[in-house]
Amino acid sequence: MHKPKQFRVKGEDFEIASKRLYLPIIIELICPHCGEKITSDLESDYLSYPVINHTEQIHFYCNECDNESEIDYKLRVSLDVDMGSIRKL
Ligand SMILES: [Zn+2]
Repeated sequence: MHKPKQFRVKGEDFEIASKRLYLPIIIELICPHCGEKITSDLESDYLSYPVINHTEQIHFYCNECDNESEIDYKLRVSLDVDMGSIRKL
């Protein structure tokens, strides 16, 4: 594969036409209420109505202290295109 050229989403933000985006990502945080480790597995917890390049919030629930918290995130998407792989069909 040649050095890929990277393309990004144009404009400020872009709403994905999806209610739920499941990703193989586990976020680990320290609960701001009690200091215990809390996690969110996005393969099961999913991102709700995700918007690319826009700050959104993920909500966490702490089983240890029974409190909720949230954290900001920004979903980014880029496309690596192998410019040397173009061929006639
Ligand atoms: Zn807690």
